[in-house]
Amino acid sequence: MVYLPALHGYHGALSFGPGVKTTSRKSGVVRSGSRRRQGNLTMTSATLLDGKTRSAELAASITAGAAALLRDHNIKPGLAVVLIGADPASQVYVRNKARMAESCGFHSLQHTFAADTPQKEVLSLIDALNGDPAIHGILVQLPLPDHLDEQQVTQHIAPEKDVDGFHFQNIGKLAAGDTEHTFVPCTPAGCMLMIEDQHGKDLSGLRAVVIGRSNIVGKPMASLLLKANATVTICHSRTSDLPAVARTADILVAAVGRAEMVRGDWIKSGATVIDVGINRTEVIVNGETRSRLVGDVNFEEVSKVAGAITPVPGGVGPMTIIMLMSNTLKSARAIAAARQV
Ligand code: NAD
Repeated sequence: MVYLPALHGYHGALSFGPGVKTTSRKSGVVRSGSRRRQGNLTMTSATLLDGKTRSAELAASITAGAAALLRDHNIKPGLAVVLIGADPASQVYVRNKARMAESCGFHSLQHTFAADTPQKEVLSLIDALNGDPAIHGILVQLPLPDHLDEQQVTQHIAPEKDVDGFHFQNIGKLAAGDTEHTFVPCTPAGCMLMIEDQHGKDLSGLRAVVIGRSNIVGKPMASLLLKANATVTICHSRTSDLPAVARTADILVAAVGRAEMVRGDWIKSGATVIDVGINRTEVIVNGETRSRLVGDVNFEEVSKVAGAITPVPGGVGPMTIIMLMSNTLKSARAIAAARQV
């Protein structure tokens, strides 16, 4: 099987041309930084990095790319999403991914298994998808039920169809700084686009702090920031005096999974804050308990100090889904390019 030819770096199939600042200061932002008086205090409010608007722009470009691939090469990008079990959050994520794939003009396939499906059955489906020429991207929705071996499942996906970027071969390439010939995990890829929108592609001289060291978000995020010349610190649950480290950041990425952990006094004035966290909390409204999504960042406090901030929901989440589409289109384009050789 032919591996990915050089395409368009970690943006997957999205090509913005060298040195182009991907503009969303103009288009992806709904509210730009402003000052307002409150009592005797002058409060600043950060630029809101609107992932919904930004991802809609990217969706238009991916849809056009998919249409061109079909027209010129008779290839329709195909994405297979595998869901095992009935976790409600996973069901929503999978549905959103399938809908987005369809709306970009992709061939979209979903396989749903019962929670007690044996490992062997999951692996044999992956074998079939690995060999299916209509499928260019395979995603197994995580987390998996406890009896399944997550590592064996993710490593079973062919690296050239691993649009989540979890295969060791793809992780290794990213760690080595080769973003051209790999699939960058979707969440950090989406965060990086929003960071570039604020700071450009070259982060020389800027300090970036990533809170969280997971293989899915924290580590690949740090690799991307490092490749862009930022000075990078990775923090985690064993880091001492986290607020002091966070305060050094010109760019702060929070990927922890703890509701509103990052407070206003952790932030350097004017910093760009990317909130990856998705945490469900309960609030009482008019005596009724309601469920609400919040990030890892206390938005109310941090937005008064930061220069730019992503909301939750509507920030990193939509960017993650669109980067999955971008990676799938990149994979399909690689097949087209290989046919021409
Ligand atoms: P994870 O649980 O794998 O990793 C969490 C990391 O946070 C760990 O490295 C841990 O060391 C660190 N951590 C935990 N407690 C800490 C503390 N008190 N101080 C400092 N560090 C601490 O989680 P993950 O998969 O990286 O996801 C992180 C968050 O991002 C979750 O809320 C998840 O739901 C969310 N997420 C969102 C998207 C999206 O599309 N928006 C995608 C992936 C993950």
